[in-house]
Amino acid sequence: MAGTGKTTFMHRLVCHTQASNMRGYVLNLDPAVMTLPFGANIDIRDTVRYKEVMKEYGLGPNGGILTSLNLFSTKFDEVISVIERRADQLDYVLVDTPGQIEIFTWSASGAIITEAFASTFPTVVAYVIDTPRSTSPVTFMSNMLYACSILYKTRLPLVLTFNKVDVAKHEFILEWMEDFEAFQAALDADSSYTSTFTRSLSLVLDEFYKNLRSVGVSAVSGAGVDAFFEAIEASAKEYMESYRADLDKRI
Ligand code: GDP
Ligand code: MG
Repeated sequence: MAGTGKTTFMHRLVCHTQASNMRGYVLNLDPAVMTLPFGANIDIRDTVRYKEVMKEYGLGPNGGILTSLNLFSTKFDEVISVIERRADQLDYVLVDTPGQIEIFTWSASGAIITEAFASTFPTVVAYVIDTPRSTSPVTFMSNMLYACSILYKTRLPLVLTFNKVDVAKHEFILEWMEDFEAFQAALDADSSYTSTFTRSLSLVLDEFYKNLRSVGVSAVSGAGVDAFFEAIEASAKEYMESYRADLDKRI
């Protein structure tokens, strides 16, 4: 979601890869970002001018982002070939997405871009969560439902990335995910009308949690970045074992 720290986390990952001699290739897919804290090898802003797209098509900010992404996705095969040519010299391709999540996950261009990656390279989705803003069990649940929908939509391995642990630790969330009763106890303090529904949902999501990796990170302090890369490695292996096989069957 917007403001969870995706771009700041990208910057952290770029610094980490450079300091650890990992060979990274960096893409920015947010046409509306003003300043990027990291240097991108491919930047959507070099190809489409978001402000001009808004003017030309008479669109608001969201329509502008969506249309920019649509225009860019028509050339995405070129992006993939550029990366493919360099593939044997690269360890990771890091991709930052637009601030508004639904523009990426629910648009044709988001699907085209994700599938272009997934059919060429082991691809993993990092779902970044604002930990300090997920301390209420109901907010946390709505966030997990979103993660769940992205998992179904992309059919790719997903790493729950709890960001901003410098402000709020994520252990209480891990406890909610591992111990159903702990989550129920947290809900006792929440008397909102959604609380009963959340109770029932948590039973269902138990199965969803079991199939995910979770890491706590801080884009600002750098905490948890090693654990994040371990989760990505494990997910890439999982991609090769199950997702890739599934994709081959579908093709
Ligand atoms: P994006 O919209 O998901 O790309 O979010 P940004 O990277 O632009 O970050 C949104 C805000 O969260 C900025 O003010 C960042 O400084 C702040 N932020 C990002 N990561 C962290 C973190 O790990 N800890 C803290 N305390 N703030 C963070
Ligand atoms: Mg951003």
